[in-house]
Amino acid sequence: MESVQYSKVIPVYKHYDVVVCGAGPAGICAAVAAARHGAKVALLERYGAVGGCLTLGYVAPVAGMVGKGTMRQEVCDLLGVGDNDAYAWTGVCHDIQKAKTVLTEFVDHENIDVYLQTMVADAWMDGDTIRGVVISTKEGLKILSGSVVIDATGDGDVAEFAGCEIEKGRDDGLMQPVTLEFLVDNVAEDGIICIGDISDVQFNGQRFLDWCKEQAEQGIIPKNAAAVRMCPTVHKGERHFNTTQVNGVDSTKVETLFKAELELRRQIDTLVDFFQKNLPGYENCKYVGSGTTLGVRESRRVVGEYYITAEELVEGKRFDDVIVHNAEFLVDIHNPTGSGQAEKKIQYCKPYDLPYGCFVPKKIDGLFTAGRCISGTHRAHASYRVMSICMAMGQAIGVAAAMCAQQGCTPRRLSVKDLQKELTALGIELFDE
Ligand SMILES: Cc1cc2nc3c(=O)[nH]c(=O)nc-3n(C[C@H](O)[C@H](O)[C@H](O)COP(=O)(O)OP(=O)(O)OC[C@H]3O[C@@H](n4cnc5c(N)ncnc54)[C@H](O)[C@@H]3O)c2cc1C
Repeated sequence: MESVQYSKVIPVYKHYDVVVCGAGPAGICAAVAAARHGAKVALLERYGAVGGCLTLGYVAPVAGMVGKGTMRQEVCDLLGVGDNDAYAWTGVCHDIQKAKTVLTEFVDHENIDVYLQTMVADAWMDGDTIRGVVISTKEGLKILSGSVVIDATGDGDVAEFAGCEIEKGRDDGLMQPVTLEFLVDNVAEDGIICIGDISDVQFNGQRFLDWCKEQAEQGIIPKNAAAVRMCPTVHKGERHFNTTQVNGVDSTKVETLFKAELELRRQIDTLVDFFQKNLPGYENCKYVGSGTTLGVRESRRVVGEYYITAEELVEGKRFDDVIVHNAEFLVDIHNPTGSGQAEKKIQYCKPYDLPYGCFVPKKIDGLFTAGRCISGTHRAHASYRVMSICMAMGQAIGVAAAMCAQQGCTPRRLSVKDLQKELTALGIELFDE
């Protein structure tokens, strides 16, 4: 491959206390938490709406659970799905269109400048310290400098640009599949619901998922889409599907994305036709919407001061430097090589803690991670990646970043005890009574 030396003088457009990169569940909570803590914040998002997977990815329901008093509850209340704790496991899809408005209002804070359609294209480094980010906009390249930068891009883009230690996938490098989630309307009230692989719902005298697998083996539905998972939504007659799937895609390699989108969109048409012909109550169902782009379950993980394992999550490990308490979800690994789950026996986790060290990348100063790109193993990531947990991570790191900016210290030097005091003062439960 040819390389060229390309140099350009880029204006340092503005300075912020905290620059949050990515406006998904983690990023929006980080930005709002930092702003409420008095920091001047930039929130950068490559697409034209905030919410990440929760809006543009059509991902639902908001799964998992965390200890009391976090922004997870506030956001779920705003979305109109906050009054049901069992929700963490059963699931109702929020109104995805309304969520775009609700979350836009949520980040509309006097201390936050939101930059939409703004891609973070590089890290501005001073040795091993990040000083800001290079953004790509309609006006060309600019730099936003920040006392602290938070990488909430899901893909760990900023950490990669900054030179952090990165991991991807399991030992053979394979990652969980990409999926395009979609909605259908006009389903009869008693039309089947199967929330996923832990479901035992029956159909035609057998487990629904086994029947679907047979359909896939006969080539009636796509092989990778054999696990037909659907949940109800807040609207009568609607069903939300988490079913399409393409394996072997690395979302950080852009040349692979188009063919995956094409395949996923074809799968939706095949599946809707199949539902209309085969599922009672779905005869007149109508495909009404899907993610703006394919959903990425897994990509980069940024190695931090602490590297958490699934074994620690399963046993419900406690940490002195906890900043997210009582996080709960399964070790939910969608099969990197085929349909359904990667592990026959899906492991449940006892409510676990996430320690501060998972959010502080090794070696690089001035940078936090929040959301699915934090430091942990492939299997641990399969649990803490769900949206409830990402929101609580974002909130804790937003407060931490504001404190760093106020104290003029790096994330590595912040007193975790002081951070815990601030989080506790906000009503966030961090320790068992
Ligand atoms: C198909 C699928 C199904 C899932 N099912 C569920 C489920 O049922 N329940 C659940 O709770 N979770 C589910 N998840 C997991 C969950 O949605 C994600 O792990 C979670 O949204 C991660 O939050 P995040 O904020 O870290 O990242 P994201 O939600 O991915 O948000 C990252 C944001 O950063 C932006 N961004 C990325 N790179 C850049 C850049 N370079 N510059 C500027 N902006 C950038 C993106 O556009 C995006 O808005 C699912 C995920 C997928 C893909």
